[in-house]
Amino acid sequence: AVVHQILIVGGGAAGIATASSLLKRNSALDIAIIEPSDTHYYQPGWTMVGGGVFKKGETARPMTAVWPKAVKRIKAAVASFAPDRDQVILADGSPVGYKILIVAPGLKLDWDAVEGLTDVLGRNGVTSNYRYDLAPYTWELVQDMRGKKVIFTQPGMPIKCAGAPQKAMYLSCDHWMQSGQLKDMEVSFCNAGPVLFGCAPYVPPLMEYIGKYGINLDFGHNLIKIDGDAKKAWFKVTKEGAEPEIVEREFDMIHVCPPQSPPDFIKESPLAGAGGWVDVDQETLRHSRFDNIFSLGDVTSTPNAKTVAAARKQAPIVAKNVIASLNGQDPKPLYDGYGSCPLTVEKGKIILAEFGYGGKVMPTFPWDSTKPRRAAWFLKKSVLPTVYWKLMLKGREWLAQ
Ligand code: FAD
Repeated sequence: AVVHQILIVGGGAAGIATASSLLKRNSALDIAIIEPSDTHYYQPGWTMVGGGVFKKGETARPMTAVWPKAVKRIKAAVASFAPDRDQVILADGSPVGYKILIVAPGLKLDWDAVEGLTDVLGRNGVTSNYRYDLAPYTWELVQDMRGKKVIFTQPGMPIKCAGAPQKAMYLSCDHWMQSGQLKDMEVSFCNAGPVLFGCAPYVPPLMEYIGKYGINLDFGHNLIKIDGDAKKAWFKVTKEGAEPEIVEREFDMIHVCPPQSPPDFIKESPLAGAGGWVDVDQETLRHSRFDNIFSLGDVTSTPNAKTVAAARKQAPIVAKNVIASLNGQDPKPLYDGYGSCPLTVEKGKIILAEFGYGGKVMPTFPWDSTKPRRAAWFLKKSVLPTVYWKLMLKGREWLAQ
């Protein structure tokens, strides 16, 4: 089998950024990325597509357009890992060897875990900003809303961009408030978990918007089944001290955030740790058992917010530690768990949640990050997409610690 000095699994946000960051440090490295898709997506833009701010085309580019020139492309999907032989096995059975492996295939959106969901997505008022082709349907439904009952769902944690389900809800409610419809509507946030947002200091300002829009908070509500024709959804409701029960709800529109898990080929691999995620040291991002394997992005076991913002901080750290490893040095404990979630609480204002391990608030700017701000909206709408395409994917660091 061919052996690459550095082999990367996945050419998404984390994979491309890491390859570019490595090349910035040493342009002579032999790097290959295994990536099956022809399109690269800027997923943080999908919230803005669902809110009618971006067109979906702005969030996608041909893979060839973001590919670092010096990186070899292996257009295939990885099926399994053989870390004892320093090889990965592709879907067609062929092996590819490596000196250092970097694992970044993102996570799995498990649409099939909700009975009936896959069949009804994209019609009968059933939508999701978690899919490129469906985010525009969210905005269509919001604009044409004639019914009253709207549900936004959130599955169990961890999910990528934990704020995205409520971002969709606030932007929709803001539109209905402007159009005068909201006061006659019934909007519910059916959240499998017990809290509105995982980082406590951001909860009070978010609760103000829940109050302003008159949203019902239904905690412990996990979507398990949906019938698009009947416009009904079923939730497994778990309350402390009570037996779980199944509750039926009607809807005119439902925005579904699908259950999420590690990809199957990761879960079943020797790389997986507890919960099936790639088991890495949370500060060095090196695998806990295999010294020549690193991992970053949504697929890792680290308890940070699964976001592009996290991958942006992780990529140069993995690059540094991979180069240290090639030089026979130990990796450094550089990652503090930084992740960020720009909560679009209304059109034109964002609460820019930024936090690291242990829920430590880590604002980039010298401001109170729990306040809704126009400047943060401008950042999300006009600055961060450019930071992504022009800096992060090119290996240039931006406000990195
Ligand atoms: P991805 O970017 O998903 O890339 C994974 C890549 O691996 C893909 O190209 C895929 O084709 C490839 N791959 C998959 N399987 C295989 C295989 N078997 N072999 C080889 N390659 C494979 N983040 C923010 O920072 N801010 C936000 O506001 C924000 N909002 C979001 C809103 C929504 C609706 C969504 C869906 C996400 C949002 N995110 C946000 C999260 C962000 O998009 C992810 O955290 C980020 O894309 C993770 O990067 P990644 O490289 O780990 O995974």
